[in-house]
Amino acid sequence: MNNQQAGYSCDEIPQNLLSTKQALDTLLGSVEATSKTNIYKLDDALNSVLAFDIYSDINVPDFDNSAMDGYAINLGPDKVNTPGGFSFDITDRIAAGSSGQELNTDCAARIFTGAPIPKGANTVIMQEECDLIDDDSKIEIFRPISLNENIRPKGNDIKSGDLILRSGKKLMPQDIALVASVGINKLEVRTKIKVGVFFTGDELIEPGDTINTGQIYNSNRYALVALLNNLGCEIINLGNIEDSLESTCKALKKLMNECDIIMTTGGVSVGEEDHVKPAVELLGKLSLWRIKMKPGKPLAFGKVGNAVFIGLPGNPVSAMVTFLLFARPLIKKMQGYSSYLNNTFKVRSSFDWNFSKARREFIRVKINNSTSPPTVTKYPKQGSDVLSSIVWADGLAEIPEKSTFSSGQILEYYPLKEMTL
Ligand code: AMP
Ligand code: MG
Repeated sequence: MNNQQAGYSCDEIPQNLLSTKQALDTLLGSVEATSKTNIYKLDDALNSVLAFDIYSDINVPDFDNSAMDGYAINLGPDKVNTPGGFSFDITDRIAAGSSGQELNTDCAARIFTGAPIPKGANTVIMQEECDLIDDDSKIEIFRPISLNENIRPKGNDIKSGDLILRSGKKLMPQDIALVASVGINKLEVRTKIKVGVFFTGDELIEPGDTINTGQIYNSNRYALVALLNNLGCEIINLGNIEDSLESTCKALKKLMNECDIIMTTGGVSVGEEDHVKPAVELLGKLSLWRIKMKPGKPLAFGKVGNAVFIGLPGNPVSAMVTFLLFARPLIKKMQGYSSYLNNTFKVRSSFDWNFSKARREFIRVKINNSTSPPTVTKYPKQGSDVLSSIVWADGLAEIPEKSTFSSGQILEYYPLKEMTL
């Protein structure tokens, strides 16, 4: 994606305090789906996003066939739906993959599931309902017989010309099976979005290293790489960067012409140790947003070279929540998903909210699905540094700013399981 394709100017990005909706609308309004595609064999296409609508050139099945192992019968008009007790001569045997001869009136063909219905046959009776008689040369059936029993008609599943998959769909195993069933062996999918990541903070050390006072393990690095992997992105991970303007600029330069998105965590506050903001301003354009939400502010958004820049907050819960609420829909839109917004549903709070807050909160909650609507309970510690809260939680409940309520209030709920898959 280039500047023109991205189609926005950072001057148009609202500054200052934004609502979550304004922030998301602005982000989504400033990017388009990548126009790059690849052609993959079916085995390699899983989890990619389909670039074009797929139509079938054939009927599936392409011929009327038997839904059972049994006997195909040419049932004479006098025997339709009359009390049973008829016998039929067995004159043919048709296995799946072969085709039979024309069947005369009141004759039967031994037939197997998936085998073509022979000319003349007008119904199929399952073998358990047929008694073999006269040295297995005939069958007898003791029940009324209808026409078209156990026949799967041509085009039963798909008709030639049918639209079978829509562009913008993430390819699931069942989608791949469906295209295979109409004889297609390759699919054109959107090229994976390339995301460059790095992490700022001199306090950060790698898991596995010995920790000293003042240091913390870099968990955001692992959160982000895992989240991006689940979204099917290609990742260039520069790891932890020294907290200096020079190193930050160096990292940005490495990524800016190669990536569709550059994403960082930390260093976007306005403290003197926060170098991401000046570095992005030096090499591109940046708008520092204070979003009216908790956890989550500040979030930085801009453009460096050909890449969209997103600077997530450093606190681990804030980084993850802002990724899920903002970066995830943005990436899905750029990746070509036709449906890229997070799915939410209504839940009922099992807690009171006594103090009106200036910022919208996304609190970590557990869900009880045995009530209708489901009920949510909140984790006792909601600090943006409390990563255990998001592991304990099933989802995020959205609490509008300036609200107070008693237990029983209906809230919007974001399921974490779905968003982290
Ligand atoms: P910052 O936005 O850089 O001021 O960071 C805010 C808080 O998040 C500080 O307590 C940082 O130590 C913490 N933090 C920043 N980056 C990470 C990271 N990669 N992993 C875990 N915590 C981090
Ligand atoms: Mg920092």
